[in-house]
Amino acid sequence: MPNWVYNTLTIQGPKSEIDYIKDRLNRPFTLAQETYGMGDISLSGFPTKIEQVTYSNPVFAFFNIHSYKDDGITDEEYACQPKRDHIDIQNDPDWFRKSVEFAKTQKDWYSWNNSNWGTKWDVAVRDGDEYPNTELLEYKSEGEDNWVVYKYETAWSPAVTILTKLSNMVPNSLLTLEFEEETGWGGEYEILRGEVKELAEWDNRCYACQSFDTLEYCDDDCGEFCSECNEGSWQDEEAMSKCQTHSVLLESRKKAEV
Ligand SMILES: [Zn+2]
Ligand SMILES: [Zn+2]
Repeated sequence: MPNWVYNTLTIQGPKSEIDYIKDRLNRPFTLAQETYGMGDISLSGFPTKIEQVTYSNPVFAFFNIHSYKDDGITDEEYACQPKRDHIDIQNDPDWFRKSVEFAKTQKDWYSWNNSNWGTKWDVAVRDGDEYPNTELLEYKSEGEDNWVVYKYETAWSPAVTILTKLSNMVPNSLLTLEFEEETGWGGEYEILRGEVKELAEWDNRCYACQSFDTLEYCDDDCGEFCSECNEGSWQDEEAMSKCQTHSVLLESRKKAEV
């Protein structure tokens, strides 16, 4: 499984642009897609079954910003598995750049999506999906206050590439993206007319007090501690009682409970 990135995207601007983009992102479509049911996985580990999938109410679809069909790629070409290139990952120090360049020339869904969206899967809600991760959180269209807020999950990266294209479709609107990856790494970007500005980036965030980059692991392996509030995602009380640095913490907590 990939590392998931949790995204919240706000688009704020003139009423005409907000209404236009909300409709456009939700435009219904059908496409040829591989399915991922267990029975469909071949021995090589690749999904093998291809079917037409309908999105009647996709909510937020990268497909509706830039699709392979816009580039004249056929369903058959798109539904293919990526070709193995001839780049020597083990020995060629320039393999990563070469792989990215190679992917840009390819028409299969994996290479095309990564090159044009910045992530391998769309976030559109397919028909029959009862618990979609993509949602329209807020829509306001009233006088000067016009915005839409979406939440969605992307694989491995916050997919900024496709958001720069989205931004160019609504040139007078400001996009604000807040994202956080499963490991805790996250950030906040602002995008205007395709220009990305980084407002904040952090390696971790304390869930208890919301401080940025305050979480650290104990050198004696007794747990994770926030330098602001001393909370952490895991703490081993037995190891803490033997830890020079953190046994004090345990004692003060016990006192607080009494
Ligand atoms: Zn904290
Ligand atoms: Zn410790």
